[in-house]
Amino acid sequence: MSNYRIIHYSLFIIHSPMNTVDIIAKKRDGQPLTSEEIKYFVDGYAKGEIPDYQASAWCMAVYLRGMTEAEATAYTLHMAHSGDMLDLHNIAPFVVDKHSTGGVGDKTTLVVAPLVACYGLPVGKMSGRGLGFSGGTIDKLESIRGFNVSLTTAQFLDMLAQHNLAVSGQSADLAPADGKFYALRDVTATVASLPLIAGSIMSKKIASGADAIVLDVKVGQGAFMATLEEAEALAELMVKIGQGVGRRVAAVLSDMNQPLGDAVGNALEVKEAIDCLHGGGPADFREHCLTVAGKMVELAGKAANLEEARVNLAKLLDNGEAWTKFVEWIVAQGGDRSQLYNPHTLPQAPLIETVTAPRSGYIATIDAAEVGKSCVDLGGGRHKKSDLIDYGVGVIHHGKIGTYLNHGEPLLTIHANDAAKLSAAKTRLLQAITWSDNPVTPPPHTLKIIG
Ligand code: URA
Repeated sequence: MSNYRIIHYSLFIIHSPMNTVDIIAKKRDGQPLTSEEIKYFVDGYAKGEIPDYQASAWCMAVYLRGMTEAEATAYTLHMAHSGDMLDLHNIAPFVVDKHSTGGVGDKTTLVVAPLVACYGLPVGKMSGRGLGFSGGTIDKLESIRGFNVSLTTAQFLDMLAQHNLAVSGQSADLAPADGKFYALRDVTATVASLPLIAGSIMSKKIASGADAIVLDVKVGQGAFMATLEEAEALAELMVKIGQGVGRRVAAVLSDMNQPLGDAVGNALEVKEAIDCLHGGGPADFREHCLTVAGKMVELAGKAANLEEARVNLAKLLDNGEAWTKFVEWIVAQGGDRSQLYNPHTLPQAPLIETVTAPRSGYIATIDAAEVGKSCVDLGGGRHKKSDLIDYGVGVIHHGKIGTYLNHGEPLLTIHANDAAKLSAAKTRLLQAITWSDNPVTPPPHTLKIIG
C-alpha cells in the first residue's frame, strides 16, 4: 500500500498540469525554468491559449531576470519547432543567411541578399518588422508597391529554386511563436534582452534551414546591446546555439553609435540601398555590406578569405550585376519594377524640411537611438501592435561623426506627414547631435568578427 502511494505520488508530480501563473512567478523570482516549462509557455502563446497580458508579464520577467544558457537554448529550439523546419537541400546544396540584431538605418539585407545571390550562393532569409527604435527589413520592403512579404513555405522554396533568393516575413509556417513574441516585445519595452533576442533570431534561422548564417551584431546607443561586452556575449550565445544544431555561424560586431548610412525611414532607406546597388551610396553602408556579404561567402567556402570575397563582391556592386539581381528578386516577389527604376515614386512624405547646422564645428556624436525614436514618432515605426506605418517619413543626415559643417549648412532633412510631428522631430534630432571645435575621428565601423 505504501509503495503504491509513493508511485502514485511521483506520477502526480511528473504529470501535474503546468500553470501559466506559476511559470511567470518562477521567472519573476529569478529561478531557472525547465525546458518543459518553456515549451509549455512558447506553445501556449503560439496557439493563443496564453493571452498577451500573461506573455507580456513573462517577457518582462525574462527581461529583468535573464535566462541561463540552457534556458536560452531551450527557448530558441522550442520557438524554432513551433512551426515547420525547412530542409532546403532538395533545392540547393548549400544555403546562406544573415540576420541583424537591430539597428538604426540598417538596410543591409536589401543589398547583401541580392549581392550574395548573384555571386552564386542561394540566400534564403526570414526577416522581421521594425522592433522598438530599430527598423525592420520587412517594413522597408513593404514600401515597394506589391511586394509580397508573406511567402508560404512552397513560395519560399520556389523563389529559392528559381532565383537563388527568397526573403519572407514571419509566416504562420516558420517559427510562428517568434512572430507573436516579436510583435509583443516591440510594444512592451522588452526588446533589449539577450536571451529574447538570441531566441528570436536563432529560432528563425534554424527553422528556415540555412547551412551558414552570418549574425550582424550591432553595438552602441542605437543597438539593443550598448557595450562591446554585452554584444560579444549575445554573439557567442547565438554562435553556440547555431553550431549546436550543425550550422556554420559567424558574427560581425559593428558600431551603431550613429545611424548606418545617411537615411533612416523605410522608403528613404530603400532609395539608399538602390544607390548602393549602383556602386554609390554612403561609404560606411557600402563597407558594412561588403563585410557581411564577404563573411557569408567565406563561410560558404566560396573565397579563400574575407578580403578576397570583399574584392569580388565590390565588382558586382560596381558592374550592375547585384542591381540586376535585386530587380529580378523584387519583381519575382510581386514588387513594382517601375518604382525601382523611378525611386521618386516610392512613398513620399508631404512635408520635407532641411534643418541647418546650429553652429560651425565637427559633429562629435549622433545618438542613433534618438534618431530611431524620432523616426518611430514621425510614423515610421509602431507604438502599438495595430499601428500602421507611414513608409515615406524619416530623416536624411548630411553629415556623420567627424564631418565639419559651417553654421547654416544642411545638417539633416526631415520627411514628415504632420507639422507638429516635424517640429518635435526637429527639436529631438538637434538635441541628439553634439559638436566639437576640434577634429573628431569617426569610430571604427567593424569592431570584431567572431567565427
Ligand atoms: N531581430 C530579431 O529578429 N529579433 C530580435 O529580437 C532582434 C532583432
